[in-house]
Amino acid sequence: MVKQTIQIFARVKPTSRKQPQGIYSIDEDEKSVAALEIILPRDLADGFVNNKRESYKFKFQRIFDQESKQDTIFEIIAKPVAESVLAGYNGTIFAYGQTGSGKTFTITGGAERYSDRGIIPRTLSYIFEQLQKDSRKMYTTHVSYLEIYNECGYDLLDPRHEASSLEDLPKVTILEDPDQNIHLKNLSLQQATTEEEALNLLFLGDTNRMIAETPMNQASTRSHCIFTVHISSKEPGSATVRRAKLHLVDLAGSERVAKTGVGGQLLTEAKYINLSLHYLEQVIIALAEKHRSHIPYRNSMMTSVLRDSLGGNCMTTMIATLSLEKRNIDESISTCRFAQRVALIKNEAVLNEEIDPRLVIIRLKKEIQELKDELAFITGEQRTDQLTQMELDKLEEQITSFLEDQDPESRLEVGSDMRKIHYCFYRLKKLLSERKIPEKNEFSHEIKDKDQEGDTPLKEEELKKLRDVLKQRDNEINILVNMLKKEKKKVQDVFNLQNTNRGGTRLSLSSSPLYGGPGDDSSKASVSSTAKQTHEGSSLDYRSGFHRRKTVKKEEMSLGRQEAFEIFKQDHADNVTIEDNKQILRQRFSEAKALGESINEVRSKIGHLKEEINQRQMQRVALSITDNATGDQELDPVEEKLRSKMEEEKKSYKNMFTRLKGLKVEIEHLQLLMEKAKVKLKKEFEVWWIEEAANLQKKSVPSNSPRTPESPKQQQSQSHLSNKSELISKKIMPSPPPLSRLQRNRFNNPNVEERLVILPSPLNTDIYEISWIWSTGTH
Ligand code: ADP
Ligand code: MG
Repeated sequence: MVKQTIQIFARVKPTSRKQPQGIYSIDEDEKSVAALEIILPRDLADGFVNNKRESYKFKFQRIFDQESKQDTIFEIIAKPVAESVLAGYNGTIFAYGQTGSGKTFTITGGAERYSDRGIIPRTLSYIFEQLQKDSRKMYTTHVSYLEIYNECGYDLLDPRHEASSLEDLPKVTILEDPDQNIHLKNLSLQQATTEEEALNLLFLGDTNRMIAETPMNQASTRSHCIFTVHISSKEPGSATVRRAKLHLVDLAGSERVAKTGVGGQLLTEAKYINLSLHYLEQVIIALAEKHRSHIPYRNSMMTSVLRDSLGGNCMTTMIATLSLEKRNIDESISTCRFAQRVALIKNEAVLNEEIDPRLVIIRLKKEIQELKDELAFITGEQRTDQLTQMELDKLEEQITSFLEDQDPESRLEVGSDMRKIHYCFYRLKKLLSERKIPEKNEFSHEIKDKDQEGDTPLKEEELKKLRDVLKQRDNEINILVNMLKKEKKKVQDVFNLQNTNRGGTRLSLSSSPLYGGPGDDSSKASVSSTAKQTHEGSSLDYRSGFHRRKTVKKEEMSLGRQEAFEIFKQDHADNVTIEDNKQILRQRFSEAKALGESINEVRSKIGHLKEEINQRQMQRVALSITDNATGDQELDPVEEKLRSKMEEEKKSYKNMFTRLKGLKVEIEHLQLLMEKAKVKLKKEFEVWWIEEAANLQKKSVPSNSPRTPESPKQQQSQSHLSNKSELISKKIMPSPPPLSRLQRNRFNNPNVEERLVILPSPLNTDIYEISWIWSTGTH
């Protein structure tokens, strides 16, 4: 058993603007604890807290200042927890702080750079690395990903669902067994045998989370996400199984003070935005108080799920994320105060060991045999598994006479033999159901009649569907006409400009999304061919196998809509990130490819050397036989040389291979990041599209000033306003592309056409063959 208080760490997010000096200071001189001092500016001190203190000091295990990197956070915070989980203890890391303070960045990671990956991917990498190293035990690993929003749990990993809103995800509920253990019903546990599989699941869940979010529910700031790694281990031959869980928790934003300008309001007037965080605080307060017998875990789903992590069998770590800007001072203080209370809680982590059920079965079987022997001794008769024919006949007779007997007091006496009692019940049930059959037939007639009546509503429904599709196509055409007008206007403007600047600087049309990049011949094309080019511009993309496959599969996305999507995509800010990552990915690919080629070369060199050594040895053996000499004891200088050369090659092979493995992880991570960014883009396109459709519905005549795809920020603020129309139009719009394609398409992506494959060589298990699988995409 390990007794430990909850470890608390603080992380300060880098500030975007230059901060006025002296808002906070970090003092790390004290023994093994660090102190964070938040200094209240004078203008804030008035009316902020009653006693008008000007500075607040909080102690943490360690404080990570703005420049701290993700690898340091992992090494110092997460690695020790991962180690104790590998040793069989439960572990939890949770991030707490206001929205925008860096919780998601710390737990999951940033969406752009590989180096920004957070605690979850790094921990998965570490765990799988350790499991691979340890051959003494057999391990199985599962992951689950739960989102809690508004007291409802949702399974982010269910493979059968394709989420377009939170409600589409399977609902997870809490069950409590008589021993007060919590079980989560409907939360799927997915097995992950490799780091890659686990990462795929993480990204699947994150994408589901992103897709399910609407401007209305703002799930990412108001929901809690719990990613759990379940590890069980067993030594070969042993009957005990060790199970440990690691929860990595991204809590909802902790902001709670209703802000009224810089003056702020008294914390006692706090307005709770997130009720379950309020309950979390109550649990923490109760746990920190001595002699409290009742801890109000049951008040919310989140505290129930994390019950063991808060004052239970768990090693728990909290990261307080702080965004220490002037306007966030009150929130930062309240985050630190919360952390100070959390630090008082003591947990007792124990090893979770269970006996293997197989061993229990063996024991129970033995016990049954002993009881049978005892029974036979007492009754004087040996019981078999089944009744004999004679016994059955006798029972039949007894049942018949019992049923025929008119005396209500009559009894069916078969003794205490359970086999006989069960047989009687079985017979009686059968007789009863045989008598019921005619009634059942009547019932099925009734059902048939009703079916026929239901014919007409079905047809009406179909008609309604067709009408909806018709409406939707109308909308589509109108949106495209608007877009086309806008593009035409753009081209016209440029053309006019060109005319006025004749002889001056030459303007390029490449900024228009409809044209190719710089150097594209289309920039010289005339205005009249705009429509044709629109088509050609996007048909370029269709050349890749991926798009062809997609268009065949995707009946829900019409050609016109695809066209609109292409344009929307190019105007979108995220496209830059996607393009950047594409570039990096290409570099990494060619690096990996070059490395792979060198590895394969070294591999074949090693093979040749081995062969040479073998031949040399055989020659020596042959020589020693013919010469009858004891040559095998002498060292052969040639062979020695070959051997040392082979060792060298092996060393360089090993080095290159380790590097390649690292590259592979990075490539896979980047691929997932890009895929996620694409899904996000698609989602934003859907929102924009729905808005356009709703606007068109409002004004039945298309307006003269065509709307353009806005920046995502504008869209967000707009979509807040137009939620109603979104709801109306949602009914006639097809749903966004199903999510499961995310995984299916990962390696067929046109931007990442290759996949690196490392196969064990058939000759030597230490040596791997490096190869690429190509798809038909273009670069
Ligand atoms: P939260 O989940 O607490 O609401 P996020 O993790 O989403 O906050 O962070 C908000 C923004 O700040 C994101 O764009 C994120 O990339 C950025 N960010 C947060 N922490 C850091 C950090 N330590 N370094 C760089 N960027 C950060
Ligand atoms: Mg977040």
